[in-house]
Amino acid sequence: MISNCQNIAILGAQESGLGAALLACKKGYNVWVSDYNAILDHYKQELDSNGIDYEEYGHDQAKILSADYIVKSPGISPKAPIVQAAYKMGVPVISEIEFASRHTDAKIIAITGSNGKTTTTSLTYNVFSKAGKNVACAGNVGESFARSLAREEADIYVLEISSFQLDDIQLFKPHVAVLLNITPDHLDRYDDKFENYIESKFRITMNQDSGDYFIYNMEDSTIENALKEKNIHAQCLGMSIAPNADATASVQEKSIIVNHKNIFKMNLAELGLSGQHNVYNSMAASITGKIFDIKKEVIRESLSDFKSLEHRLEFVAKVKGVEYINDSKATNVNSSWYALETVQNPIVWIVGGIDKGNDYEILQELVKQKVKTIICLGQDNMKIHEAFSKYVDLIINTYSMEEAVSVANHFSSKGDAVVLSPACASFDLFDNYEHRGRCFKAAVREL
Ligand code: ADP
Repeated sequence: MISNCQNIAILGAQESGLGAALLACKKGYNVWVSDYNAILDHYKQELDSNGIDYEEYGHDQAKILSADYIVKSPGISPKAPIVQAAYKMGVPVISEIEFASRHTDAKIIAITGSNGKTTTTSLTYNVFSKAGKNVACAGNVGESFARSLAREEADIYVLEISSFQLDDIQLFKPHVAVLLNITPDHLDRYDDKFENYIESKFRITMNQDSGDYFIYNMEDSTIENALKEKNIHAQCLGMSIAPNADATASVQEKSIIVNHKNIFKMNLAELGLSGQHNVYNSMAASITGKIFDIKKEVIRESLSDFKSLEHRLEFVAKVKGVEYINDSKATNVNSSWYALETVQNPIVWIVGGIDKGNDYEILQELVKQKVKTIICLGQDNMKIHEAFSKYVDLIINTYSMEEAVSVANHFSSKGDAVVLSPACASFDLFDNYEHRGRCFKAAVREL
């Protein structure tokens, strides 16, 4: 067992690697951190000030493979030679959330899905902190689980969990697991097989037992189909917007109804976040709150005063009667579907970037109904033209954010909404989605 081991090698020195290193150091292990690339200065300073040994620009294979355990950061592919060598030698490889969870008895609420993880994690955290619980929020958002634990142990952890983090768990056992949706994403890490990605997401339930809860989206056909083949040991609590007698949470007469222990009802108009996707996210947070016996008034207040997060359908400004909305975090087709569905004004849509194998067909109907003009912002916009030229009068190529916003300003009129919801990754023109969103906001403010 890990508690008897002395030597830990940590692969990757970013947020999760650093968190694992700090926790391991605090727990008295001999720690060796290794990164194939450069380690950022502030992380080096942190390692130095904690007396943790490290290397960068390569892996000392002999040293790493002599460790009792390897903690692998989620960004490192299982196909990396050092990881393959560890598998071959039989050195256990675990993820940072697995490592962290072995050092706490705190109750874990783990939230996964292709889209909506950060929003639902933040909503849920808001509910629990408003209820006065000793709770922390960590994982894929903010600080890593291990770092949070190393700093101060809370009673409850609300964790945003990605599929990469689930790939290397062994004993990780959330008391509440939330699966929001599954749509194709990151398939390059899963041998281009959707079924492998689905399996990865379902690992969140694998160690749960009948005292635990599994909250899932009953209207997601991928989840529903997968469930037919699975034997889930946790109590399954389904969410459905359409009335469904088997659902724990559903929408009736424009209110969310959660039927767990007793009835919690909340008018949709009271929710702080708009859009169908946020109805699921709010349902997941409310069911979780009910599981922990949080008062209905606290759940209601937490869901109603919650403001949208940066880069997720974030209202930026109204300029000459036109609303500008930053949804830069929409890096796949499914999240852009919800953006187009949610916005009620005629839309000037800024879309494009690096397409991860997008199938734009599911957007065509919404584009036909709501989009006036498409502004492509990416190096290769061919697929966008092919998918939508039949449905909009005007599609314009642009090559910088300033140009995109200026063209949007030119072609929009009072009552329209200019929506940046790219459905693509950002790396062709920007550092990341945050950079893209910030450039959008800066360009809007210059108008
Ligand atoms: P994640 O952390 O899973 O990437 P975010 O909460 O950051 O999810 O949201 C990413 C994008 O997906 C945003 O554009 C957001 O508006 C959209 N989104 C949020 N919740 C959902 C959901 N439940 N289903 C689909 N899209 C969603």
